[in-house]
Amino acid sequence: MRALILYIEDNFENRLLVRRILEAEGYRVVEAEDGPRGLELARSMHPDLILVDLHLPDIDGYELVRRFKQMPHLQGIPIVALTADVIRGTRERALATGCDGYIPKPIDVDALPEQIAAFLKNREAPHGR
Ligand code: MN
Repeated sequence: MRALILYIEDNFENRLLVRRILEAEGYRVVEAEDGPRGLELARSMHPDLILVDLHLPDIDGYELVRRFKQMPHLQGIPIVALTADVIRGTRERALATGCDGYIPKPIDVDALPEQIAAFLKNREAPHGR
C-alpha cells in the first residue's frame, strides 16, 4: 500500500509543488487548505505522515499539532512542520509542540523525497488500519 500523507497548507503554489513531488514518488496525498479542514480530515483518516505548515490563517500549525497529538489514532504517526520562518527557536518550538521534525521553506525539490522517506522510516510503530 502506498503511504498516505495529509498535507495542510494555505499557499496554493506550495500545495501544487509538494503534491506534484510526493505523487511522483508514489505517495498518496490528501490536502487541506486551512486548519479546520485539516482537523476534520485528521479525525476521519489514518495518514502515515502529516505535513503541516506552521503559518495558517485561522488555527495555526502549532495548535493543529497539539490537537493531533491528542488523537489516539494518530499516535506514532510522524508530524512534520513546514515553515519559511527562519527565526531562531522556530525549530525548537516545533519540536517542543510535538513535531517529529521540520522542513524549511522554500521547499528543496531535490531533497524533499528523501526527507519524507526518512520520517516515514522512523515511524514509532505500524498502526492498525
Ligand atoms: Mn502558510
